[in-house]
Amino acid sequence: MAADPCKDLEAELRETFESGRTKEESWRRLQLNNLLSLLEEKEDVIFQALEQDLGKHPIESYRDEIGPLIKSLNYALNGLKKWMSGRKAALPLAAFPASAVLVPEPLGVVLIISSWNFPFGLSLEPLIGAICAGNAVVLKPSELAPASASVLADLIHTYLDVKAIKVVQGGVSVGEQLLQLKWDKIFFTGSAPVARIVMTAAAKNLTPVTMELGGKCPAVVDSLSSSWDKTIAMKRILASKFGICSGQACISIDYIIAEKKFVSTLVELLKAGTLSMFGVNPKETNSMARIINKNHFRRLKNLLNEPSSKASIVYGGSLDEDNLFIEPTILLDPPLETGVMTEEIFGPLLPIITLEKIEDSIKLIKSKPKPLVLYAFTNDEGLKKRLSSETSSGSVVFNDAIVQYAADSIPFGGVGESGFGRYHGKFSFDEFSYEKAVVRRSYLVDFWFRYPPWNDHKLQL
Ligand code: NAD
Repeated sequence: MAADPCKDLEAELRETFESGRTKEESWRRLQLNNLLSLLEEKEDVIFQALEQDLGKHPIESYRDEIGPLIKSLNYALNGLKKWMSGRKAALPLAAFPASAVLVPEPLGVVLIISSWNFPFGLSLEPLIGAICAGNAVVLKPSELAPASASVLADLIHTYLDVKAIKVVQGGVSVGEQLLQLKWDKIFFTGSAPVARIVMTAAAKNLTPVTMELGGKCPAVVDSLSSSWDKTIAMKRILASKFGICSGQACISIDYIIAEKKFVSTLVELLKAGTLSMFGVNPKETNSMARIINKNHFRRLKNLLNEPSSKASIVYGGSLDEDNLFIEPTILLDPPLETGVMTEEIFGPLLPIITLEKIEDSIKLIKSKPKPLVLYAFTNDEGLKKRLSSETSSGSVVFNDAIVQYAADSIPFGGVGESGFGRYHGKFSFDEFSYEKAVVRRSYLVDFWFRYPPWNDHKLQL
């Protein structure tokens, strides 16, 4: 495989797919159960890889990767039979007697390209959907989390049907080679610029794509009246920024929007909350992941070192390049045209943008590309309604953050620049299936006027 990891790959998987074995419910169940065993038996190996690549604490790794995957597998095993069974559809009376069913069929041989920040979750969650739907799969994890990519390859090739599910390791050039092949579906998690490359390649073969992208997720923070609500809100905001892969998450809060008159209280609450979560020396606590590599570290450093950003720091700001560590950092009112407010931050920098009135947040949000998630911490039902109905985002979450990711009953995905297509739970099954309409007619009733020759008599009917 080392010389040309893509050679004969697609042909081999297509042969397996054409054999029909991946379509069997028993095959799908076996792979899902084997994935469960993999996660349960190799938890330590996974923890080590995540520690090595990202400095994630095992609790964080379990909370964000292994735990949600086990939950998703159990959900899929419970739902699979029903999902596969299809559904009836009504036909117009004119077609009587007839019946129709919508039957899901696998798309074929699919390619999953994933990102580095949740190397197991973002690879295996779509893989679960692809298996449930009965596809053969090639998975290309990100080269930026090499220990995780290597563990994924070893474990998947050991636990799963290696003739139907393969992991190909490598970076951009391997990704480009894979894109030369003909796939029946490409499921991509990553950045918008690479998504455009993937879509261009997919267009050559009319391959359908799912794009799980990122962007800047805003959090509108209203001046909550009760101190209990404020305390809980602060914990949830901080955990979803500094406490989840150090902010290197597509659904992390990117920036806060708050009213001017509330901001001094807000900053104090955020400072106190950060101190109690990460202590005076957060680097020593092991509760914050490391920045993935020097390139990303320097990208974040440059964002912070822009003079107007630097001047806006109200908390934190220290960087340790040798340890790829950035302290939780809060910025107050960096100009909207600086990097921290124009680029997706993807790190532990938290800008707060102040406005006269909280309702003005709608205009600000609408001035930017549609985010993957819009968060709002408020008890004001009118504001909730306006935020939901007047803005567009992949999802909207009130009074919490990140939790939506773990719910199988709601779709996960973006809109506009944050992507398209959706997955999790049954939505993953649908994303990797084609729902075929099967219509059955009988010979009992037949209308003579539907057939040529056309004549005046038929015209007058
Ligand atoms: P990226 O686009 O650089 O890389 C993603 C994947 O594409 C990697 O596996 C990479 O090797 C591959 N790749 C890169 N160039 C390629 C090419 N020319 N041809 C084929 N494959 C290529 O993104 P990233 O740095 O891994 O991830 C960061 C971005 O992903 C952020 O924007 C983040 O918001 C987004 N993201 C989104 C989600 C989501 O679920 N919506 C989850 C995680 C990350």
